[in-house]
Amino acid sequence: MLQKALMILQHRGQDTAGISVFDGQSINTVKDAGLVTTALPRERIASATGTVGIGHVRYATTGSKNPKNAQPMTMVTASGQIAVAHNGDLTNYESKKNELLAQNAVFQTDSDTELVINILSRFLGMGNDPVRALRKTMGEIDGAYALTILINDQLYAVRDPHGIRPLIIGKLPDGYVVASESAALDALGAEVVRDVMPGEIMHIGTDGFKSYPAEVKTQSAHCMFEWVYFARPDSVIDGACVYQVRKEIGRILAKEHPADADLVMPIPDSGRAHAIGFSQGSGLPYEEGFMKNRFAERTFILPDQREREIAVRGKMNPISSTVAGKRIVIVDDSIVRGTTLKQLILMLRDAGAKEVHVRVGSPPIIAPCYYGVDMKTRDQFIANGNSVEDIRRILGADSLGYISIEGLVSAVKKTENELCLACLNARYPTRIDGEEERFQTRLDDHGSF
Ligand code: AMP
Repeated sequence: MLQKALMILQHRGQDTAGISVFDGQSINTVKDAGLVTTALPRERIASATGTVGIGHVRYATTGSKNPKNAQPMTMVTASGQIAVAHNGDLTNYESKKNELLAQNAVFQTDSDTELVINILSRFLGMGNDPVRALRKTMGEIDGAYALTILINDQLYAVRDPHGIRPLIIGKLPDGYVVASESAALDALGAEVVRDVMPGEIMHIGTDGFKSYPAEVKTQSAHCMFEWVYFARPDSVIDGACVYQVRKEIGRILAKEHPADADLVMPIPDSGRAHAIGFSQGSGLPYEEGFMKNRFAERTFILPDQREREIAVRGKMNPISSTVAGKRIVIVDDSIVRGTTLKQLILMLRDAGAKEVHVRVGSPPIIAPCYYGVDMKTRDQFIANGNSVEDIRRILGADSLGYISIEGLVSAVKKTENELCLACLNARYPTRIDGEEERFQTRLDDHGSF
């Protein structure tokens, strides 16, 4: 069952996969590099069966891609066995780790999840019950964390006080399941109960779950990029269906940046729902103009720019009969470096497109993400230091339009204060190690929270 859920969440991480299961006596962990099917083949997970467990697919952000950083992370302590699966990034990892190293703590990985387990085990060792130990751990760590935790046979789910990354609980006929996205609950036949709330700790048993609401003041700052790009379209996050939000983004884009064109087409697969919305909002016919090789490797993660450019060509091919002689609107979810779009526009022109107008489902990305999306250095952003007109020229498009921040926020049906928009406006909802000079909490704008 864990393996099945992880396969549904595979888009959230392809570097490593793992599970930890309590078998009645102890926690058994199987984890390795690669996709779920490679890291967790049937024969290997046969050794990890039981009634309660956690699982993880990793997308390396903090910490290297080294398989030693695979999760769940485990530790044997005086209080028993602990296993932790973590989505998100801690923003005070370096300073806390150094503080603990000075107290002779031992770390075996460069993953921030090890910090969580280290701090938690200390508080448990001091005699705190698990909920108190978790609360105290939350007092020590900053940043984004959606956690599932096994302490021996007891299962907990925790979300950071800003609820930056998603976490949702569902009911099975014989128990409960918690996952990053509702699509995983659907696949298991679970009925959605609700999102885990920002700052909430849940203790989950077979006959129910007990909620321990945050004792600190919370302020939702949900990552907007989950709706724009990261999550599956069939997931519902914080009450908003990802597919519907993307379509609404497309409809708003059509109003904000109309185009005189013959057709609209998506950059598959990430721009598809946005393009459908653009078609609905503009009345332009929707067409598929690119064939994507679904077995191609991910271009975004290749280390070298030239390699990325060549890889885009291997991944996508225009359908000449759709594009030749046409004025085309192409819609994508986001532009990071601009590599993908620059290549695709060239390819469309080679295939005979008369005009290429670009519409983008996210406002310009200008600042690094420290909360679990792999966008770390400022110089990788094409929008950093370039105007929209500069970017249009670099991309070689006939026109370029990004959705506005207001448009995006209204598509998610939230207010600006309820979302993390740090990659768009450099306002980080938490303190960030080493980012002090640019640090600008919402405190400045909105008083305390
Ligand atoms: P780029 O070619 O660098 O502009 O990449 C932008 C494309 O990569 C977007 O169209 C997204 O579909 C995808 N993308 C954006 N952010 C990420 C990310 N953090 N990890 C992987 N893919 C991403």
